[in-house]
Amino acid sequence: MTDAADLADRVQAGELRLYELESHADADTAAAARRELLVRETGADLDATGAFTFDAEHAAETAVENLAGGTQLPLGVAGPLAVSGGAAGDDYYLPLATTEGALVASVNRGCSAITAAGGANARVTKVGMTRAPVFRVADVTEGAEVAEWVDEHVDVLAEAAESTTSHGELLDVTPYVVGDNVFLRFSYDTKDAMGMNMATIATEAASEVVERETPAELVALSGNLCTDKKPAAINAVEGRGRTVTADVTIPRDVVEDRFDTTPEAIEEANTRKNLVGSAKAGSLGFNAHAANVVAAVFLATGQDAAQVVEGSNAITTVEAREEALYASVSFASLEVGTVGGGTKLPTQREALDVLGVRGGGDPAGANADALAEVIAAGGLAGELSLLAALASRHLSSAHAELGR
Ligand code: NAP
Repeated sequence: MTDAADLADRVQAGELRLYELESHADADTAAAARRELLVRETGADLDATGAFTFDAEHAAETAVENLAGGTQLPLGVAGPLAVSGGAAGDDYYLPLATTEGALVASVNRGCSAITAAGGANARVTKVGMTRAPVFRVADVTEGAEVAEWVDEHVDVLAEAAESTTSHGELLDVTPYVVGDNVFLRFSYDTKDAMGMNMATIATEAASEVVERETPAELVALSGNLCTDKKPAAINAVEGRGRTVTADVTIPRDVVEDRFDTTPEAIEEANTRKNLVGSAKAGSLGFNAHAANVVAAVFLATGQDAAQVVEGSNAITTVEAREEALYASVSFASLEVGTVGGGTKLPTQREALDVLGVRGGGDPAGANADALAEVIAAGGLAGELSLLAALASRHLSSAHAELGR
């Protein structure tokens, strides 16, 4: 059996490339060889990186190339958080993977106020994972003809797209003509999958039909109008993945007791900061720190971390009502899944189990809907707690007390 040191020797001698090690050893040994190589070449100590619990073989096959080890993050928990959603309906404990001290404490405080108020409502109001290939046409006349053909043949495109998946459904195709470019924004219900692979494979099959039936020639399967992992207004307006909103009405005495401030002060902080400040900054997100909760739950539950870019595109509203505070957070484009991708890793599966949403839902899509609703309610907890800290001027003292 080839050992790690021997493999590292052969890489250093130029006999083997970094990506060829799995052909000569099992995945654990290949990863150990890469660590050995890094230790020799950089002097770094990689003992902690080598202490991981996932299955190296599975990770090397499905999640990463050139596996060298595992990165660990602290996992905190906030809750219980009562959520009444279209799919979610329980008291939840939120798994939050983060290195930002004070974040979990803050979200926990928000959860406590929401739960004391009877819980948050949450609803997924739109579903649609998108892929938008770009095609070359001769000119705008031809582009308009292609767009018309597509509008009239969505059923034909659906048949081709859906032949590649047993779960995905094509919902619609929106053409955009720009000079001699035609972009077709395909939108799918991908059920419990985040769906980016599923939508890409399905769109490739549908694009072959477009090329066969029209003069359009495919240039790139992703034409950036999707828009994946880039800040983009189209996601904020049209949605992507799940569009989901959580709201809550908290009695005045609960606000005063849990947040040490008033509904009016929280409303003013929200208006001046999240609405006016964000508008002046030309921001896409009109919220306090929605990305904090989205990123922490994404990391804990195996979501695609780069989609925090559009996943945290949210608008927070707050209104002081007679004897209560009304607050909402609307996420335009939260891309989540409970099957596929990183959701198969062991600690990520455990975090999904904590939320009771691992794997396929019944009906299909219900688990991903529930996950989106719980994240939205968690985001609401985070928004309320931070706004309250600002309103009561406790932000810097809270961080100081927690030593950060
Ligand atoms: P996936 O693991 O590629 O696909 C999900 C799979 O789960 C499908 O094969 C589907 O089968 C199956 N499935 C079983 N039960 C299901 C259920 N209840 N609902 C939905 N599907 C079910 O995952 P994905 O979500 O499409 O893609 C996620 C991965 O894509 C992540 O690893 C992410 O990093 C990566 N990604 C890819 C791109 C890209 O451009 N390709 C971009 C960004 C991210 P059927 O399809 O047969 O129904």
